[in-house]
Amino acid sequence: MTKVVLVTGASRGIGRATALLLAQQGYAVGVNYLRDSAAAELVVAQIRQQGGKALALQADIAEEEEVVAMFAELETTLGPISALVNNAGILFQQATIEQLTAERINKVLTTNVTGYFLCCREAVKRIALRHGGQGGSIVNVSSAASRLGAPWEYIDYAASKGAVDTLTTGLALEVAAQGIRVNCVRPGCIYTEMHASGGEPGRVDRVKSALPMQRGGQPEEVAQAVAWLLSDAASYVTGSFIEAAGGR
Ligand code: NAD
Repeated sequence: MTKVVLVTGASRGIGRATALLLAQQGYAVGVNYLRDSAAAELVVAQIRQQGGKALALQADIAEEEEVVAMFAELETTLGPISALVNNAGILFQQATIEQLTAERINKVLTTNVTGYFLCCREAVKRIALRHGGQGGSIVNVSSAASRLGAPWEYIDYAASKGAVDTLTTGLALEVAAQGIRVNCVRPGCIYTEMHASGGEPGRVDRVKSALPMQRGGQPEEVAQAVAWLLSDAASYVTGSFIEAAGGR
């Protein structure tokens, strides 16, 4: 039976690369997006052209009703969900602690933390309801920043990713007996629009010489780690973390 996966923030970047790879591997893919419906529809069209199944799903992951409706629409159209990639996230410009506003901190936490919780909750509810089923798999996309702290740059973002790490550990233990695995990928500096649109344009090229592998990563390289953790190849792996960070 075709496995159904939801990838959040899948209209571009790491989410897009992950959606395309999972479709190649035979998953039917829910392509979640926030605003850019044209880009999400392009991802869907590319998957369908290659003979796969996909559906674009608009929802703000930080809004509970939108998340619940998105999971319902996904299952109505593609079938019962068995996998989730929590990927959608935001990063703002570099700032010191004195420059952080409550508004910014709340925005980062509601998207990067509340959003991940809500999607995990909906996925677990739906997978766990199907007693005797095949279980399921969740991968949370965190960041190398969760362990580095990102001082003077993005400590709000780093702290939100620290929460994603702890969510991964706790949820993995909570749902292990239900056959649901929960793992995490921590990307390093990856060439996506995240830095260009929210953080510091050109950041990856600025810092790459300081990275052990001397280069930034491509979204497709992160997608490979996500896909492995999500797959049956990782059937005895839960509560685990893979750094896709060039040795950082
Ligand atoms: P990106 O900005 O290209 O993509 C993020 C996507 O998430 C965007 O399409 C955006 O619209 C979507 N999104 C944001 N808020 C949303 C919301 N409330 N609801 C639904 N969608 C929302 O960034 P990316 O680099 O592809 O990042 C993907 C993930 O990887 C993020 O969780 C990010 O924190 C993490 N990450 C990225 C890097 C990097 O260097 N690019 C490093 C470490 C971790």
